[in-house]
Amino acid sequence: MKNSAISERKNQSISRGVGMTTQIYADRAENSEIWDVEGRRYIDFSSGIAVVNTGHRHPKVIEAVKAQLDRFTHTCHQVVPYESYVRLAERLNGMLPGKFDKKTIFVTTGAEAVENAIKIARNATGRQAVIAFSGGFHGRTFMGMALTGKVVPYKVGFGAMPADVFHAPFPVALHGVSVADSLAALDKLFKADVDPARVAAIIVEPVQGEGGFYEAPRDFMAALRKICDQHGMLLIADEVQTGFARTGKMFAMDHHEVAPDITTMAKSLAGGFPLSAVTGRAEIMDAPGPGGLGGTYGGSPIGVAAAHAVLDVIEEENLLQRAAQIGAAIRARVSEIAGRTGTIPTAHLRGLGAMLAFDIVKDSATGEPDGARARAVAAKAFELGLIVLTCGTHGETLRILVPLTISDELLGQGLAILEKALTAT
Ligand code: PMP
Repeated sequence: MKNSAISERKNQSISRGVGMTTQIYADRAENSEIWDVEGRRYIDFSSGIAVVNTGHRHPKVIEAVKAQLDRFTHTCHQVVPYESYVRLAERLNGMLPGKFDKKTIFVTTGAEAVENAIKIARNATGRQAVIAFSGGFHGRTFMGMALTGKVVPYKVGFGAMPADVFHAPFPVALHGVSVADSLAALDKLFKADVDPARVAAIIVEPVQGEGGFYEAPRDFMAALRKICDQHGMLLIADEVQTGFARTGKMFAMDHHEVAPDITTMAKSLAGGFPLSAVTGRAEIMDAPGPGGLGGTYGGSPIGVAAAHAVLDVIEEENLLQRAAQIGAAIRARVSEIAGRTGTIPTAHLRGLGAMLAFDIVKDSATGEPDGARARAVAAKAFELGLIVLTCGTHGETLRILVPLTISDELLGQGLAILEKALTAT
C-alpha cells in the first residue's frame, strides 16, 4: 500500500475539515516509534498529541485491555455498572490536588470533559457566565469552541457560540502581557461586561497547550484562586494536555500552591484509549441530578482498564522523575543548538517538565515569529524520520511531547534529527 494512494482516497472520502499534520498512514507503533504502510519508521515526538505518555502499546496497558476484552467490552455504566469504574474514580479522587472530598465522572473526550465541567459548575453555582483566556484551547464541541480563545480555524464559520462566555488575556510576558495586565483586564471585564456575581467559573489551562506551551505564572494562578473565592466562582483547571506526568508532576496544578475546584482530564489518562474524566469537590460534583451527567460510552470498561494500567506504569516506572529528566535533556540540547551560528534562529525555549516548546523566529534578537519556517523545519524533520508538531498564534512554535517511556538512545536519535532540520532548512 502507498501513502500517496491512500491520501488520494482520503481527499475523496474525508472532510477536509479534519486537518492532518502528516500524509503518512500508520501501520504499527511501538513505544516511541511509528511505522507507516510503506514500512518507513518515524520517531514520535508528538505522542499522538500528548496521549501516549506511557508510549505506544505499553505492554501493561495492552495486557490490561486484552484481559478486559475477554470479560466484557460494554454494558454502559449507567445500565450495569462495574467496579473498575468506581476504583478508577477512587484513584483519581485520591490523586488530584486539594485537601477536600472529591467525586469523579468519566466521559469520552477532552471536549466532553470540558462540557461537563461547565455543566456541573453552572448547576452547582446556579450561575451562567464563564471566563476563559485568549490563546486557550478547550475542544471543538460548542462550549469547548466558545471557550477556546482562538478564532481561526476553530470558530470561523461555525455560527453563534453559546452565550455568556468571556475572554481575558492570558499572561504571556513574551507577548507583552504581564500578570498585572491580565488581572486588570479581568477587573475591567467585571466592570464593563459581566457582574462577577453571575460568573459560575473561570477555566484555565495550567500550561496552555495548543496556544503555545505558556505556563500560567504561579502568582497568576494564586490570584485566580483568590478572585474565585471572593466572588463565589469555581476554578476549573483544564489538564487535558498537561495531565499524567507530562510536566514532571502528576498534574500541572501540583506545581501550584492553590487547588482548582474542578479538573478536566483526558488524553494520556488511558494511554490511547478514549476516556476522559472530570474530578471536583464532592458537593459540587453532586449538584446535577441523576441522569443529568453521563453518556453511552462514558467510562468505557476498555478505557478504564487501560487507565488503571497507565496509572500503575507511571508509578512503577517513575515517570514523574523521567519527565523531568527528559525535559532537562531536551532543554540542554536545544539550547546548545540554538547557541550555534549557522542554525535557523530560535527563541523562547520554555515549558514544564517534558512539555517543551521553542519558537522559530526571523531573528533571535527581535524574536519575531516565523510560522512558515517553523512549518518548514517540522517538514524537514518529518522527511528525516521525526514527527514533531507546531502550535502557537502564528504556528511559530515547535512543541516537543515525547513519550515518557522513550529510551535515551531514541531520544538522542530524535534530537539529532531535530538538529539537522534546524541546520538544513
Ligand atoms: N482541552 C485541552 C487543554 C486540550 O489540549 C484539548 C485537545 N487538544 C482539549 C481540551 C480537547 O480534547 P479532545 O480533542 O479530546 O476533545
